[in-house]
Amino acid sequence: MTDTKFIDFPDLKARVSIEQAAQMLGLNLTKHGSQFRGSCPVHGGGDRTLVVTPLKGFYCFGEKQGGDQISLVAHCRQVPVRDAAAWMLDGLGGAASKPAREKLPAAPQRPPNGLKALDYLQHDHESVKALGLAPETVQAWGAGFAAKGILRGRFAVPIHDREGTLLAYVGNRCQRRAIAEAALSQRLRSALSDFRSRQGAGRRAVSCPRAASSADRA
Ligand SMILES: [Zn+2]
Repeated sequence: MTDTKFIDFPDLKARVSIEQAAQMLGLNLTKHGSQFRGSCPVHGGGDRTLVVTPLKGFYCFGEKQGGDQISLVAHCRQVPVRDAAAWMLDGLGGAASKPAREKLPAAPQRPPNGLKALDYLQHDHESVKALGLAPETVQAWGAGFAAKGILRGRFAVPIHDREGTLLAYVGNRCQRRAIAEAALSQRLRSALSDFRSRQGAGRRAVSCPRAASSADRA
């Protein structure tokens, strides 16, 4: 599933430190000063073969290869870097629920990139007005009526986390009755407006009722 998904590598690196990656891999490393050292799960060797330096990276003396946390996962699992990143993303949920060891804070729980906002929601749709909501309010929410997509025919409201990452949309089925009422009130308003403009036209003796109508609305 993750193999076709876009992976934000810098974001992943920001979320999973190299210590956390080592933890996810279940590496048995011992702290030596500012470094963690141990045997490489692939290349074996003594307990100094694999060196993990927080904020810097890792180095395997067995293969004379090093890199960042994603490379560490790729190295230890012997998979391409992209697969390693996907594996880390998959493991984030599980890693976050485990009790974090000292100095190894759990990864924050949020989707990597958030959802893409739906750009086709109509904040001034009749069914939205029928819900008793001001179009400006609905626009400010980023909500609106979905005329297409999975929420088609529904009033869609975005859900964000505290950082403002878009997590999901909830869809509220716009009631047929509410839509009908909105349409009816729209027709009534328009009839009333026509009536007023005709009255205005009579008083002002304007011969063109269309012109009077637009002047009336302006
Ligand atoms: Zn190695």
